[in-house]
Amino acid sequence: MSETMNKNNTIMNTYARLPVTFSHGEGVWLWDEDGNKYLDALSGIAVCGLGHAHPAVTAAVSTQAGKLVHTSNLYGIAVQQQLADKLAALSGMEKSFFGNSGAEANEAAIKIARLYGHNNDIAQPNIIVMEGSFHGRTMATLSATGNRKVQAGFEPLVQGFIRVPYNDIEAVKTVAKNTDNVVAILVEPVQGEGGINIPDTDYLNGLREICDEQNWLLMLDEIQTGMGRSGKWFAFEHSDIKPDVMTLAKALGNGVPIGVCLATGKAANVLQPGNHGSTFGGNPLVSAAALAVIDTMQENDLVSRAAQLGTQLVEAFSARLANNEHVVDVRGLGLLIGIELDTPCTELVTAALDNGLLINVAANNVVRLLPPLVLSDAEATQLVDKLCTLIDSFTASQPVAAQN
Ligand SMILES: *Cc1c(COP(=O)(O)O)cnc(C)c1O
Repeated sequence: MSETMNKNNTIMNTYARLPVTFSHGEGVWLWDEDGNKYLDALSGIAVCGLGHAHPAVTAAVSTQAGKLVHTSNLYGIAVQQQLADKLAALSGMEKSFFGNSGAEANEAAIKIARLYGHNNDIAQPNIIVMEGSFHGRTMATLSATGNRKVQAGFEPLVQGFIRVPYNDIEAVKTVAKNTDNVVAILVEPVQGEGGINIPDTDYLNGLREICDEQNWLLMLDEIQTGMGRSGKWFAFEHSDIKPDVMTLAKALGNGVPIGVCLATGKAANVLQPGNHGSTFGGNPLVSAAALAVIDTMQENDLVSRAAQLGTQLVEAFSARLANNEHVVDVRGLGLLIGIELDTPCTELVTAALDNGLLINVAANNVVRLLPPLVLSDAEATQLVDKLCTLIDSFTASQPVAAQN
């Protein structure tokens, strides 16, 4: 067992870490300290969309580090401005606020919603959030999260959230009818941590309609779905709508910590000097990395590649697992892919690790794949072969599902 796995070590014991430590990576591949090679089908949880050690990101970070790393937001930051311009052009949103993580991006969104409410004489503003959602681990974002495990032990929770089932327009309409201090809806276009839950195609359109009628803000948490992963730059582009607020983080910096809250229209100018801030947010180093990520994605047309790979992978998994009666569903939107089994399957994570494959299991029984967008066709085939073999041998050891 390596030193970093030692339970008595100096890192707080907040993670159930797998018994492996990586030393370097290239593209979709990682190598551990003993020289074993792994196909990374998780990308550091949807972060390394360009794979590991991408030369364009390495170059941008190195060059910027040699020029200027940090000055604080007391001063102008040219690369941050360039990044904000790029994000506005890509998304159609108007303004950016930069933080250092997904949770911080969502904190900014929550603050915008509350201030928007107060500006409209709503003293106790509420935000509608979803069952099964994940929005982060800070006090406000864990309160918004629809998973008791994330909240347990940290009560009192932050107030001002009303929870409804996901993918249920009627439930939102009921709240609209019965509650007059709602100011916003915060929702993931696809629930990632919740188990790759893909709502009906008209779900966001329906939410947009209610928000317009009620004068609420539609706030999309695209921290996992954004930056090309869904096969569009932003998952809302699969619908006909635009959000008022959108948060991004994970893949934005390809591993350099950066998050952003984008806003437009009536949400764009809610935050004013003194309302919010961050010491590190959008500093020259991370902004340069994010700019390199966007440029590289554009130059290599990686968003359409994600869409094409996603279709290809879901088809391949569906075909290969068609005769496995424990496989309930194979679903995906771009490179957000879920393979749902009829049985808890967290053991598959270690089985895959032992076979040189990095995967994750969400919601206990959904194999979650978030491979890098730079996956080649040959690597995609390897992923399908390896994983289907593992799933088949895992389910072969399970009791046969009850017939009805
Ligand atoms: C990962 C994630 C977050 C939290 O991001 P952190 O950078 O870990 O704070 C929030 N929302 C969604 C949808 C996520 O996937």
